[in-house]
Amino acid sequence: MTLQQLMDRRDRALGAGTPLFYGNPLHIVRGEGVYLYDADGRRYVDMYNNVPCVGHANPHVVEAMARQQSTLNVHSRYLHEGIVEFAERLVALHGLAIESVVVSCSGTEAVEVALRMARIATGKRGIVCTNATYHGNSEAVSMLTRLAVGQNTVRDARSFPFPEMYRPLLPGASETELADAYLASLEEAIRNLEHDGAGFAGLIVCSILANEGLPDIPRGFMARAAAMVRAAGGVVIADEVQAGYCRTGQWWGYQVSGFEPDIVVTGKPMGNGLPLAATAASKAFVDAFRANTRYFNTFASSPLQAAVGMAVLDVIEGDRLRDNVNTVGSYLKQALLERKVRCPSIGDVRGHGLFIGIEIVKQDAEKTPDVTRTIQIVNRLKDKGFLTSNAGALRNTVKIRPPLVFKRQNAEAFLAALDETISELNG
Ligand code: PMP
Repeated sequence: MTLQQLMDRRDRALGAGTPLFYGNPLHIVRGEGVYLYDADGRRYVDMYNNVPCVGHANPHVVEAMARQQSTLNVHSRYLHEGIVEFAERLVALHGLAIESVVVSCSGTEAVEVALRMARIATGKRGIVCTNATYHGNSEAVSMLTRLAVGQNTVRDARSFPFPEMYRPLLPGASETELADAYLASLEEAIRNLEHDGAGFAGLIVCSILANEGLPDIPRGFMARAAAMVRAAGGVVIADEVQAGYCRTGQWWGYQVSGFEPDIVVTGKPMGNGLPLAATAASKAFVDAFRANTRYFNTFASSPLQAAVGMAVLDVIEGDRLRDNVNTVGSYLKQALLERKVRCPSIGDVRGHGLFIGIEIVKQDAEKTPDVTRTIQIVNRLKDKGFLTSNAGALRNTVKIRPPLVFKRQNAEAFLAALDETISELNG
């Protein structure tokens, strides 16, 4: 079957417009570690996928999954030690304020749980998020994405401009003045909700502003924002769906950004591909949520999720993947920062650990975003065997987010391909 035939069948079976990466889409048939192989046997380095965090087809995870599935898999209304142990291990990865978890099957579901938990804990409805965010695809959660496309008010939610240093709200301001300005916008959003009658339940924020484009955040902003939220009677929800699980070189993005959340949402990497997500908080918050909702989720909290979730933690801890993230991530970021100095189209290089964004701009004083060139770079890198994508608030950031098992030799090969790409495009 040709690629075109498969695309036509896909359009019929799944609906036209079902998203696909790249100008010439890839037909991937196998994965192993950081590598993906297409139908012609061509190998690609997966530099996009944080889901298979311990590597595609990781044998320890595959074995745990098969063993559990062939022993027992039931819903959560039976006693089972596995899920209790997994929840205990998850909670132990946070500070003492995080005590219990609600397990679910996707980031969206876990965010929904977090929003409901915040509303039950505060008795208020209003949620604040940033103006370029994504927290999930359900009707309730995708309301927050609408705030990202120009509208700063929807029912019971408000957005404020995400804090950043590269295209600052107040050009020329000091870092402290800039933090003050963003805090003033956050305060306005909170007041607005209070004024409208929804009241203020909390702030939801990706701890490292991943979908916004991994901006450098004015120092102190996150801790001061968390304090402002609590002073206004709200709770702080850290969305760690992208930021968590050692991605940044710390277990959690909130450790990198310097704040303490009340509720933590995790998803993508937790099951290395098995649908697995969680909302963690104090026992009081979780107890109140359980009492008010009688929450049940058919596939969640199963022995299978527990076995796979623990296998992933075993590999991260046993193979010291956090150390790998720090070593390889700092090598890669440093090498990219050197390229920023000599390549005029690289406007900025940002991020932490193995999560790096390269912002591509036109060669003018306004740092005009160059989306066309970003897409060209991403497609050319793909043709050279390296899978990335374009992301960020302005879609002009090359997003680098490989599995945690990405090695220095992968980074070196990527840098050679990037250099080649940039010289083909004349800088
Ligand atoms: N939060 C963030 C920060 C995300 O990036 C995403 C997905 N990209 C989600 C939540 C939703 O996760 P899911 O697709 O598993 O529902």
